Amino acid sequence: MTFADLRQKLKSGEVSSKELVQEKINRIKELDPTLNSFLTVNSDKALSNAEHIDKKIAAGDNLPPLSGIPIGIKDNLCTKGIKTTCASKILDNFVPPYESTVTKRLLNAGAIMIGKTNMDEFAMGSSTETSAFGPTLNPWNISKVPGGSSGGSAASVAAGLCYGSLGSDTGGSIRQPASFCGVVGMKPTYGRVSRWGLIAFASSLDQVGPFANNVSDAAEILQVISGKDEFDSTTVDIPVPNYLETLSKSIKGMKIGLIENCFDHEGLATDVKESVICSASLLENLGAEIVNVSCPRFNDGIATYYVIAPSEASANLARYDGVKYGFRSGDEQSLIEMTSKSRALGFGSEVKRRILIGTYALSAGYVDAYYKKAQQVRTLIRRDFDDAFKKVDVLLAPTAPTTAFGSGDNIDNPMAMYLSDLLTIPANLAGLPAISLPCGFDKSGLPIGLQLIGNVFEEGKLLQVANQFEKAAEVYKNRPKTDFTL
Ligand code: GLN
Repeated sequence: MTFADLRQKLKSGEVSSKELVQEKINRIKELDPTLNSFLTVNSDKALSNAEHIDKKIAAGDNLPPLSGIPIGIKDNLCTKGIKTTCASKILDNFVPPYESTVTKRLLNAGAIMIGKTNMDEFAMGSSTETSAFGPTLNPWNISKVPGGSSGGSAASVAAGLCYGSLGSDTGGSIRQPASFCGVVGMKPTYGRVSRWGLIAFASSLDQVGPFANNVSDAAEILQVISGKDEFDSTTVDIPVPNYLETLSKSIKGMKIGLIENCFDHEGLATDVKESVICSASLLENLGAEIVNVSCPRFNDGIATYYVIAPSEASANLARYDGVKYGFRSGDEQSLIEMTSKSRALGFGSEVKRRILIGTYALSAGYVDAYYKKAQQVRTLIRRDFDDAFKKVDVLLAPTAPTTAFGSGDNIDNPMAMYLSDLLTIPANLAGLPAISLPCGFDKSGLPIGLQLIGNVFEEGKLLQVANQFEKAAEVYKNRPKTDFTL
């Protein structure tokens, strides 16, 4: 069911918003003790908000587009009066005094916030195993990870615990879990969506975006959260096009570039490669022209990212000092002792690793060799994309080199974990919009994700191609069998 179907049913009285919310709460009670995709469930408030909307529907009011639809929110987005932990012990008692711009816009559009979703601690990770509150499992196969860092937002949509959700994507944290969980996930252009109230990881890369069961729902969420925000000076003041209007336009004559550098990578699984090549043929059948495109520095993205992202993180995470927010280790005498002990006990090991790497890369004597060099490579990666978009409308690649890997497989091997973002990171470094959508399944029945990357502010084109593909491929008709609790 799409948001459009739900709207119809709500309007006709066939179903009430309260029933929709109650159904999701029941499903969370049944399945989430296993999946652990929610850190907080907002049952009472969600039900009373739904009743409020039902009254307005009954009174015949003209309601905003997402009215009465239950949505999940990643736990790194500040929600006024509702605990926001970033899945970290250091924020485990943090209740924000303000609402992030994106959640405010969703609530103004009538959406019902059903709860806060699990994630890797401070969005650092690719498997949702670094959460201080336990890992999220993949609803397609509970011995596999859901991807990360927005694993809770992806798994909850895939398992039908909410109709859509918000995540954040710094190096692939929306697209990679979307691919592992068989749902649609989109990272907008840097500056399209406000970061006000998003707890910062790497500020020059972070963007908030939607997860949904289908492309048109993702477009609806994006429509609502996009646009200039006076509280975030990096948002850009250009009009937000009507994404729904162009969704059903034909892609005949559109030029789609296969990024050839992605396909010769030794870590790329055969099933993934075949499924993505097959998807390109399907797009060709729909009238698009497929051309090979070279982005020579594409594979340098990962090394570049793992200097820039930890550098920014080391600065952003300096604010957790045991004084202003969250956890404080209280036994100590001096301020320095209290701060260092609070950080030592409050942060998990992946977060500490990033702070150490970032502090090192920014220190006097190393900053030119590491941080500055990485910024220069970042510019070169962006130039490769600029050249590519002179020839094509949209670029195509796999979302991740493999399908969902086993729980625990990579947790002690950070290099292997980092490699799962090989194909998503370049879009963040260049600030480009990109979408992941299901395109098939591997031999063991796990979903495969297709990634489309667009030029800046061309979200509309991405959604159009994705929607045409989705309608033709019908991969969404397969849903995970959620009988794992039986
Ligand atoms: N997995 C990547 C990392 O660990 C990306 C995370 C993200 O996009 N937030 O940094």
